[in-house]
This record gives sequence, C-alpha cells and structure tokens, in this order.
Amino acid sequence: MVRHCRRLLLVLLAGAIPVTAVHATEVRRLQLEQKGGQTRAILHLDTAPEYRLFTLGDPDRVVLDIRGASLGRDFRGDGSGLVRAVRHGRHGGDLRIVLDLAAGAQPRSFLLAPGQGEGHRLVIELEPKAAGAEAAPVLTVADAVPAGERDIVIAIDAGHGGKDPGAIGPSGLREKEVTLQVARELKSVLDAERGLRAILIRDGDVYLPLAERYQKARQEEADLFVSIHADAFTRPDARGSSVFVLSTRGASSEAARWLAERENNAELVGGVSLSDKDSMLATVLLDLSQSATLEASSSVAENVLRSLARVGNVHKNEVQRANFMVLRSPDVPSLLVETAFISNPDEERNLKDPQFRRRLALAIRDGIKDYFSVSPPHGTWYAANVRPTERHHVVSRGETLALIARRHGVSVQSIRNANGLASDRIMAGAVLRIPVSS
Ligand SMILES: [Zn+2]
Repeated sequence: MVRHCRRLLLVLLAGAIPVTAVHATEVRRLQLEQKGGQTRAILHLDTAPEYRLFTLGDPDRVVLDIRGASLGRDFRGDGSGLVRAVRHGRHGGDLRIVLDLAAGAQPRSFLLAPGQGEGHRLVIELEPKAAGAEAAPVLTVADAVPAGERDIVIAIDAGHGGKDPGAIGPSGLREKEVTLQVARELKSVLDAERGLRAILIRDGDVYLPLAERYQKARQEEADLFVSIHADAFTRPDARGSSVFVLSTRGASSEAARWLAERENNAELVGGVSLSDKDSMLATVLLDLSQSATLEASSSVAENVLRSLARVGNVHKNEVQRANFMVLRSPDVPSLLVETAFISNPDEERNLKDPQFRRRLALAIRDGIKDYFSVSPPHGTWYAANVRPTERHHVVSRGETLALIARRHGVSVQSIRNANGLASDRIMAGAVLRIPVSS
C-alpha cells in the first residue's frame, strides 16, 4: 500500500523530533577513482545528504553544496585525474565543495545507500566533454546509449523496507517482506529471459527514500521501472491486483520542479541537458520526454494488467493513475503493481505462498515481454531479434477510429476485431491493439 503509509510516517516524525535535534550531515572522506577516462569522486557521509550540484566554466569546476553539512576531521582533498584540486568552504548554512577541473566535464551524481561494509555515499561521475559535442535530443535515457544489441534493463523496486514496514496483514505479514520476495522472484524470471536484465533497487531490509528509488533507476539507465507493493483496505474482502501509472497532475508538478531547479541541476533528461537551454525550449523538451514516458508507462501497465488478469483476480479492470512520487521519472517508463490485498486474509495467505508469488512474477514478466516485443528500445537485442505480432496505440483526445486506422495502414474493422469493440466510440487514454499484417 502506498497511499496512507507515507503521510502517517511524516506526521509521526514531525511530532517526535524537534527541529534542533536533526543531525547535520558529516562528510568523512573523499575518494577519487579513475575508470576508462572517467573520474569518480565518492564522498563518504554519515547520513544521506541533501545536496545540489552544478558546473561553472572558465576555469571549469564542479560545485557541490551539501545542506547543513560539516567536514569530518579526516577529510583530505587532493586532486587526481580530471580533478585538479579540491576546495571547500561555507555557503550560507551549507558546506560547499568545489572540484577544480583540468578540462570541461559533464557531471552525473547519485546516492548509494549503506551496504557491503560502506556507509552513505554520494558519487559524482565526471565524463570529459568532447570538444563541440552537443547531446542529440532523444526521448529516453536508454536511447542515449550507443547502438548494439544490449539487454533491456528493468529496475524492480520492492516497496517499503527498513523502518517502513508498509501495510501489515491480519496475521502479521509485513508488506516490506512480501514486496522483496516478489521483487527477487521477478528478477530471477526476467534474468532467465534472453535480452532482458533486471536490477533490484533494494535487495535487503533497508529503507530508501522514494526519490532515491527512481533516481537509482535513472542512474542505471533502466528502460523500465516497476514498483512492487501489496494493497490494504479497511474492508477485509477487498481483493485482486491493481496497476498504477503516474497521473498528469504528478507529471506536471515534477515538470515544475525540474524547471525550477534547471540551472543548478546537471542531470540529463532523456539524454538532454536542460541547464543550458532557455526556459521555453527546456519546457518543450521536458514535455516531450514526459509525454513519451507516460505513453510508454500506460502501454506497459496495460500489458501487465492484462497478463495479471489471466492468472488471477484484478481489483480494477483499468490501469489506475495516481500522483506517486516513485513513478515520477521524466524519462523512464514507470508503473506500480499492487500485487494483492495483504489486508484480505485469503490474499495474505496467498502472498505467503511461494507458488503464488511465482505466478505473480511470471504474469508481470509476460506483460513486460509483451510490451517490449512490440515497442523495443533502439539498440537492444529485442529490437534486432523479436518480431511483433501487434502494435499498440494510445488514443489521444480527438482521435477517431478511422484516423487511427489510416495512420497505421489497417482497416477500421481489423481494429474493432482485435479489441472486441462493439461501437466506434473510443476514450482518450485507452490503449488499442493494432494488428500487424505480415
Ligand atoms: Zn505499499
């Protein structure tokens, strides 16, 4: 369940911790590594930092401001690789660390949660900028990767974790455990497929903030983000799976955030930097990327829901839309699967059953495969080797069946047949199967 648990947690935290007791982040150590022409700066911290990163030219430098942070006693900053020197100072209440660069570089940053004997880390990757290079406007992160026959990458996010148990079933089953079990099962069935590779956003009982979850998927250049949850409701007989994608309201508030932070944010959206574009162009590029991403999200979600319906109950027959933070990537198609109702005693029992979890994982996998067979990202093994038997079309406002048929070069009747339509009335947002004549 994702709807109520977050807000409740915030209320509890706000009541329990006075503002003055909030622990300031300490930057303990800076580590510089070289890897294939790239320089990685890794900051070791005692908590997950709030930070912003931006570049300045002439001379080239990367500026990092960490909110309310201080430097540990053992912090030393010697240059190496692309980093000529490291300076630090205060900037308002923040700690400012400046990396003086030997040449222009494109920074990318991400956070790593504690694991494998390491604590919180902030990683800044510096890629030397090719002279005169300009990123081509493409629509997804994955499209920015050079062509080949790479695997399609699917990021699986097990909901909740650590201090956040999620919903709790009548016999005490915790959502955070079920989501991790389903996520691991899903990874294993996806990895067994040629051309697909899955990564787990969390692989243990750890707490990860929501924004960090989708940032990690973007960092891994995932083609798809799937968040796994188990639903809960006050009525114990509520049952079945649901599939969610981001609402347009969620997309527009995310767009507002990206545009507001554009100048301080070096992250690429769909392979394009927004920081050096004027606001009109940045708005258009972001909108293009978000529309393409939402369309893809709806289409995958549709396939997954259809596949889940084949193996068991679905709670709602249509893909649901909600403003879930975890689905807000502007350039990675994202969906959230509420596998079953953990609040329903029968479904709680199912969720405890490895056979049931395997069926769920296989159904989600099939929906994902159906989608990528039809819409494979460029440069993937799927694009080179898998032949679609049908295409999908998401109906835009004002489109008629005749218009869609003409666009795809098929007859209106064949679309009616493929979708079991009794009339020609279609709703904006509906996903139609378009038969492919071979
Ligand atoms: Zn949940």
